[in-house]
Amino acid sequence: MRQINWTGHPFVDAGLAAIVAIVGVKRLEDLTAEHLEKAAKELERILLSDQALGIGVEKAFAKSALSQLFPNSELVNPSHWKGQTPEAKAENVRQKFREALKHDLEKAKISLVQSGDATCLVCGRKVPDTATTFVRKDKMPLLAGIVNFYPAFAYGVQVCGLCAFAVRFLPMSVMRTGVSNRLWFLHTQALEVAVEISKRYCWTKFNEAIAANETLEFYNRWQTAGDAGTVLYVLCELLGELSDQLREAYLHPLPTTAYLFSNDNRNPYVQPLPIPNELLIFLAKLQLKSQRAFQRFWQELLLLPEGLNEKERKTRIGFVQIVAQRLLSGESIIGMCLDEGNGQENRPPRLWGGWLGHALYLREVRKMPESKLAILERLGLSIAQSADAKKRIMELRKTERGDLYAIFLRYVREGWLKHDEFYTLLPPNSDTHASELRDILLAVIYEWQHCQEKGEEFPKVTEEMSLSPDETLNRIRQIGGKLCQELPNLTRWIGQLQTARSGERIRGVYLSAVQRGAMSFSDFTFLAPLGDRQKMWLLRDYLLAFLFERAREVLPEEEEIAVPEEAAIENL
Ligand SMILES: [Zn+2]
Repeated sequence: MRQINWTGHPFVDAGLAAIVAIVGVKRLEDLTAEHLEKAAKELERILLSDQALGIGVEKAFAKSALSQLFPNSELVNPSHWKGQTPEAKAENVRQKFREALKHDLEKAKISLVQSGDATCLVCGRKVPDTATTFVRKDKMPLLAGIVNFYPAFAYGVQVCGLCAFAVRFLPMSVMRTGVSNRLWFLHTQALEVAVEISKRYCWTKFNEAIAANETLEFYNRWQTAGDAGTVLYVLCELLGELSDQLREAYLHPLPTTAYLFSNDNRNPYVQPLPIPNELLIFLAKLQLKSQRAFQRFWQELLLLPEGLNEKERKTRIGFVQIVAQRLLSGESIIGMCLDEGNGQENRPPRLWGGWLGHALYLREVRKMPESKLAILERLGLSIAQSADAKKRIMELRKTERGDLYAIFLRYVREGWLKHDEFYTLLPPNSDTHASELRDILLAVIYEWQHCQEKGEEFPKVTEEMSLSPDETLNRIRQIGGKLCQELPNLTRWIGQLQTARSGERIRGVYLSAVQRGAMSFSDFTFLAPLGDRQKMWLLRDYLLAFLFERAREVLPEEEEIAVPEEAAIENL
């Protein structure tokens, strides 16, 4: 007796999962010939029901939606729909389908026990020639783009009986996406997950339609929008109940992928939507940390509530579609989840999804260092609780990207940030933009306000951390320390540096320190490298941050901090 395993072919694997879902074994390897027989009976019962064939109901599922999976199958072929009455036609089609399925079942059973000289092109199984079938795209979606053309001019592709049989169960794993209504299924080697989807959204829904005497349809009643939105919605819904199994999905050799497809004769396509392991790990960790925060995160981000008016619905659909797409590609989402309540009186700003969810997403998916997250969380809380919070929030919201550095520098000046924290937030060669830092600060602030309103405690995610300086920061400290000791008029010099508006002017200020013996020439070339204006501005910011902190008692009264001209800020 040989065993059944995953094939790696998404369409066949989805069929295998649907077979397991209806016979209820624990592992694929446990499937026997009796299980296949039982599954075949169930498939017949559903696909040959009056409600599938369009008898006494509005439409024929077999000839419409199902034909997008298997065009020209036994259920579609017009020559099979012969007869005087609808019942007679249906009976004819039933007959043809039963024969074909029985044929596949026999070959599947042989493939299960006998070896041979033929190799299945899908799963690689060696079987006797008699157990193989030549399938074409009417039986196996997307086998070829051009009908009748296959390798070596063969009639089709040679597959084993098991693969041909399994793929017949594909409809029992397929759903539609919300709003866009495309066909899709999830390809995962985490059997429980694939089985649960097949049970819950396919077998059960088809059975319900038959019981209610309604036309069969692929499930599409999601309260969400878009392709990525539906995939994530299903995962989050399942995670609520199958957390352990879903948590393990990322341990399997093949990554979990959603396939959007149509095998329609005119416009066939398949589009894989890979689900990054980091995202699964993030969702699982969030759920472990707080069931409530997990619910809030996905419902506020993915749910399309009922009862919205047309305009609200349109806006919400756009939001859900984009945020879901960004989640799947691991992009930044925090900026678009800040709701400032624009134009609506008395509505306080909000962070959709909650801080706990966003902080974990930043850490697990965006790979933001813990130290950075800790600083932003602490700083955001300080701003939120400050006496002039309102003014500061406005300032953060309104400031242009290029001027954000100056705001962060001012935080150092005012004692809200230490110079090494400034450096940690905006390190050289960082790929986090200053605008994302601003969004994170606002997120913390909005969440804190929200908690205050509801009388809840702010969900703090990070602990205080000690920072370890790198080479660049050490050099800045060394240079700054010497300046503090040796410059005769430190206050004036700092004032000149912070208001210097051009690269030439900054160099001039540095040179004046060199002249007075407070800066070495190599320090000068380190701070003002030729031909790298951006780096020069960045190093100036670090040096200012150090001086603001170290020479606090002698700082000039001048508050303004010059920022680089447009050309130099492009990448800030
Ligand atoms: Zn095979």
